[in-house]
Amino acid sequence: MEDRERIKAILSRISGRGYKAYRDLEGSYGLAPGLTFYLDHAQGDPFAAPSRVRLRMDMTKAQYPPRLFKNPVRRMALQDFILRAFAEKIRPFSRGRGTGGSGRYSVDAGGQEILLRSGCVVTSEYVEVRFFMGLPAAGRRVLGKEALEMILVDLPRAARSLEYAAHSAKEVEAFVDLVEDQEYLRRRLAERGLVAFVRDGALLPRRSGVDDRPMERGAVLFESPPELRVTMETLHHGEVTGMGVPQGVTLIVGGGFHGKTTLLEAISRGVYPHIPGDGREWVVTDAGAVKVRSEDGRYVEGVDISPFIKDLPMGRDTSFFSTEDASGSTSLAASIMEALEMGARVLLLDEDTAATNFLIRDARMQALIPREKEPITPFIDKVRQLYREYGVSTVLVLGGSGDYLDVADTVIALDSYRVLDLTERAREVARKFPTPRHPEGGDTFGEVRSRAPLAESFSPRKGRKERVRSKGLKEILFGEEVIDVSDVEQMVDHSQARAVAEILRYYGRQMAGSKTAMKEGISRVLDVVLDKGFEVLTGWPVGNLAMPRSFEVAAAMNRLRSLKVTFVDGDLGRK
Ligand code: ADP
Ligand code: MG
Repeated sequence: MEDRERIKAILSRISGRGYKAYRDLEGSYGLAPGLTFYLDHAQGDPFAAPSRVRLRMDMTKAQYPPRLFKNPVRRMALQDFILRAFAEKIRPFSRGRGTGGSGRYSVDAGGQEILLRSGCVVTSEYVEVRFFMGLPAAGRRVLGKEALEMILVDLPRAARSLEYAAHSAKEVEAFVDLVEDQEYLRRRLAERGLVAFVRDGALLPRRSGVDDRPMERGAVLFESPPELRVTMETLHHGEVTGMGVPQGVTLIVGGGFHGKTTLLEAISRGVYPHIPGDGREWVVTDAGAVKVRSEDGRYVEGVDISPFIKDLPMGRDTSFFSTEDASGSTSLAASIMEALEMGARVLLLDEDTAATNFLIRDARMQALIPREKEPITPFIDKVRQLYREYGVSTVLVLGGSGDYLDVADTVIALDSYRVLDLTERAREVARKFPTPRHPEGGDTFGEVRSRAPLAESFSPRKGRKERVRSKGLKEILFGEEVIDVSDVEQMVDHSQARAVAEILRYYGRQMAGSKTAMKEGISRVLDVVLDKGFEVLTGWPVGNLAMPRSFEVAAAMNRLRSLKVTFVDGDLGRK
């Protein structure tokens, strides 16, 4: 029997029956020449999570020129483009057609960033989109006619957006070229001695704190100060000019409300490519840049924070430091050490979210409280060692402490959203007003140690079942544990949080143990996902996962309150 007839036969047989009868429809069907529909999992109930489905179009029909996906970056870009187009095309078909989620479609197509997502796969054989649909019901009974309409009418129509011919060839090409150039620039930063590049004309401010789209009116476009202007070669856009943020220690100074945080945020997001029209398409940051911040109350397990904090009252050990309830300064010390452990090349910090007593101890406080009574070595005394000994750069937003002028290589100022290079001026000021404070950082930074997460840390069970999921960008639920990831700022997409939840579970099963360093274990899991697809995490195709960076996976793992680690060399560092 022809597949369309098979669908009709099944639906007319189960129409009016209990909702679970939709299970009979699970399987794959040719909807049209070169177009296959997969119902991978029929939901058990119209109020439950919607059904998992796929549409696959043969490349002989979709006809994308191979140059659009000839390397991993271009492929990711093309997949992203197709997924967004498909989401837009199917949206008008999504409407209530009964109880619960009946008649709705949901496609996880992403926001301002372009990430590797599970929702679209392009190979030389086919284009496939993975999404969700609410199979229609009246009460809890199958609505056969409506289901038939969804599958045989909506889907083939929406599937047209999977064809190359449905798009402006120019637009697809421009999208793919833009993403490729962002990655190209990102990979060129280090050899140019830069940690970030912000192109002239970029639009950095967002619509609001909860709306990541570009500000609509009144935005002052970015313009590099002449001293920091660099020209970079691209593959498809000729030469571009803008501000190069040099390696080393960079301060972003300026009065309150002048745009400092906005610039740092853009740099922090610049580790990902952005969609055309975002305004930050040409803000490109070293892929090893990690935003760190204070996080009162966070969990810390077995981190050697002694470069920053030692000799706690009551002789508490800080070379294997654990706490259920870190302070502003200990949490920041731990987050920095964890980022270094994962191989961060750049640290991004903002005074708005960094404990003051971690950043600075001024001359008067040094006179008042003797060194032996202060466990904290402030960041100002470590930031140069970090660069000199580990090659790790820092970009720090700081309006409040001039002592930092002594340790900065570059000083950028914001003045009514305009950027100035005040490096020379800052040197003069530092000469004219020498700081009476004395350095407290010792001779060297100290050690960055590798930790191995133990298998017992990971128990995804909740009751009799394994249960991991995420709640927006705030929490990851892992078995009985709730991981607070609301301060992990470079986790930017709900689907990354979902993927992180699955990666932690996979890590627990496949990697955890005293011999495997967290860095190595996470990078191995991410390589497996890149190689085999997101299905290795879930066991089946699912359309709502997006690739996180290793730093964000580690950040979530480090906040898992059941985490237990040892140092990889077995030594727990207790002296
Ligand atoms: P700061 O960190 O210096 O206190 P913010 O970056 O928080 O300042 O910016 C203050 C306000 O100015 C925010 O509401 C932000 O959206 C807005 N803003 C920032 N940069 C620009 C810009 N280039 N053009 C217009 N408004 C901006
Ligand atoms: Mg600020």
